[in-house]
Formats: sequence, structure tokens, C-alpha cells
Amino acid sequence: MEFNVLSVFKGIEKEPINPFNPNEVGTSLFLNGGMGPKIRDSMEKQAKAAGMERRNFFRSTIGLSAAMLAANTATGMEFFEVSKAEGVDFEAKAESVQVARAGSDFIVDVHTHVCTRPGHYQLGVNTNERGMWFVQLLDDLGKAFGMKNGTKDMDIDHYGKLILEGSDTTVGIFNPFGFAEHYGGKDMVPIEYQAQVKKRWPKNSMMLAGGLTPNQGLGVTLDRLRMYAEDYKVSGLKLYTFDATEKKGWWFDDEKLAYPMWEECRKLGIKNIGCHKGVPFGQFYARYAHCEDFDSACDDFLDLNFIAYHAAWPYHNELAALKGFKPQRKNLYAEIGTTFAATVTSRPLECAHVLGTLLRDLGEDYVLWGTDSLLWGNPQWQIEAFRKFQIPDHLVEGHGYPKITPEIRRKVLGENAARIWNIDKKSAMQAKAEIIGTAALA
Ligand SMILES: [Zn+2]
Repeated sequence: MEFNVLSVFKGIEKEPINPFNPNEVGTSLFLNGGMGPKIRDSMEKQAKAAGMERRNFFRSTIGLSAAMLAANTATGMEFFEVSKAEGVDFEAKAESVQVARAGSDFIVDVHTHVCTRPGHYQLGVNTNERGMWFVQLLDDLGKAFGMKNGTKDMDIDHYGKLILEGSDTTVGIFNPFGFAEHYGGKDMVPIEYQAQVKKRWPKNSMMLAGGLTPNQGLGVTLDRLRMYAEDYKVSGLKLYTFDATEKKGWWFDDEKLAYPMWEECRKLGIKNIGCHKGVPFGQFYARYAHCEDFDSACDDFLDLNFIAYHAAWPYHNELAALKGFKPQRKNLYAEIGTTFAATVTSRPLECAHVLGTLLRDLGEDYVLWGTDSLLWGNPQWQIEAFRKFQIPDHLVEGHGYPKITPEIRRKVLGENAARIWNIDKKSAMQAKAEIIGTAALA
């Protein structure tokens, strides 16, 4: 995520949240975002109409629907397809959840994280000051979302409890953090730690390798890439073009530094290559968050897929132009983690423009679901918000955006990812049912 949520959602850290209740997480973002005061006002009236005490209402399932209704009222636009009954009546709400779930029950979250490692991060011991900027940011976030020990709670157990048991997510694809120079010479989240997630939930999790930093030396980078493929059978890469070396960054279209990696990926059968784009956070530099370097990489490696994480927001127009003017392109993807979560509750008009731009220019087959959890806590509220989100008519007419149809929802939430990662939907769904069953018994 790596987005300063706390400066956008002011005051969210003040009200303690139960991390296992996704309604609370979602509603508190509505309550503390840009439209906060108006939403609070409207929700208090709805609590009265439902005959409930305000705080209990805010934490309930109907509270989250009421927040979406309040956002429609506050903006005078219909961003959320929520009936009035869902905001006051538990049965109406339960039924609407069932209908929405039946419409899109297969969910691949291509952007998930654990965020600790054995020995964790200690200033001056295994982490330097710059490394701590990022840990601090994530610690504050984790605490705001109810994980009392911040990043220490963003561990394997919580990954299972909050993402796989606590949400409709069928398959979580986890993304690594490298930046070894800031973390005592070892990746911030090393692959052997992430591999434990995969071992525990083999059909419901997949692993991307990361930390590949050609400025550390191309030879060692290619060796690591081969090791990831051979020893860990990784499903792709999630890289960062800004890095923690003295050079500060590199580009995907660098023929000397990057192309040998893509050529090696070809040989190893690694097809999906993601990169953090947009969201210039913490210790990193905004220039490397731009995505023009995908342009020639896409053309020169037509058999590989390039995925811009965060949809390069707030530079998503640059990403969209790489396909909008080049309709022949078939290997450019956008992922919407953090971008959706940060905008949908606080700036829904911006959210509609971002999604509309991606769907219009990249196309509905090229947008991938991601939530950046555990950094945003339990992802279920995001799933619910996406199932209800709509682009208002006047934006459709004025900008040529598509309406979000049930088919587009299914594609974005799971089918596009299943296609490029060859996910066996049936076996993943069966394994998910077992996880839910076991959780219910425990
Ligand atoms: Zn992330």
C-alpha cells in the first residue's frame, strides 16, 4: 500500500476497530474520509430509523450499507447500488449480500502482503532509519485497522484469519518487499517466510517473488531469479523500480539491466511480471512510480504480461494511454490495490474516474482485483464496496466509460487473474469451502 492513509482519513486511529469485523473497517473509512462529517450526519439519522444505538449501528453490516447510501446522498450521485432497505434492515442486507456473492463468488486478490519476518525490524540492529520510515507507516496503519501490534500482527496467522477465513477471497497472491539495503542486507519480507503461507494454504495462495534489484548487480539478480523459479516455483514477479541502492532506481525498458531479466523469465516460464507503480511512498522517489518504461518492455516481450500495481495511481492516465492509443497491445494489465480502497470511501468521484479510465482504455479483460491487505486490514469491506460500486450515468455519457456490469465485476474480481495465472477455479473454490468450514468449527 504504502499510501499515507492516515493523512487522508483523519482521526481513524482514534476509534478502536475490531480487525475481525470488516464492516467496522469500511465504515470507519467512510466516516473519517473527505466526506466524513456529512456521512456521519446522515448515518446518525439512519441509526435512529433502524432503532439502534449509534456505535452499534456503525459496527453492523447495515452500517456499511448506510455509509454507502450516505455517500450517494452527500455527492448527489449514485456511486453505490444499495437499496434503502439494506441500510436499515438486517434481512434485506443479508439477502443483498447473498445475491452479490452469487454474482461474483470467485475472488483472486492479486495484491496481498504479510509484513514481518523472524526477528522483525529493529532500528540500528537490522533496520536503518529509512527502512524504519516504511515500517512506521505500516505500523500506524495496522494499528488504525485494529491490529494492535502493527506490522508484527501482519503475520501468517492473520493472513489466514483476515484474508482467507475472514473474507470472500478465494485465492490470495502475495507480494514481497525487498529493499535489503535498508533491512540489514536481507529482504524486508524474505521468500522463505512467505513460503510458509503457500505451504499452509497451497490451493488458496500463490507467491510472487521480489526483491530483484539489478542495481545490486545483474549476475546476482539473475541467480536469485533462477533460484526463485527452481526452489520456490514462484508464480510471477512483483518488483519495484525504485530501490534502496545508491542509484535509487531502474527501469523496465533498460536493455542492459532489465531485458536480461525478462529473457531469463522467458526461459524459466515466468509469464507475469508486476511492478509497483504510482503511490510514491516513504523512502522512495516519485519518478520511478511512472510507468512509461512498460511501453517498450510490452512491445519487446509480447509473450510476457506486465502488470502495473496500484494502476499507477495518481498517474493512471499515463498507464491508460499506453493502451488507449495502442489497441493492438494485449499484455498490459492494471491492478487496483490501495487505489480503490483509498478513493472509494473518501473520493468516490475520483474512484469512478480511475476505474472508468482503466476499463475504457485498458479494457475489461486487463483490470485485476487487489486489496493490498493486510495493510488495509480485513479486505471484505473492499469486496463488498466493489460489488456495489457503479460509475454514474453522466460520467458514462461524458467520458465514454462503461457501466460496471456483472460480467465486468466477475472478470475484475477473479476471472482475469485466473486466466493469466492458470488458476484451477474449481479446486480453489473447494479448498476455500474447507477453510471456511474449519474456521466455523474452531
Ligand atoms: Zn502493496
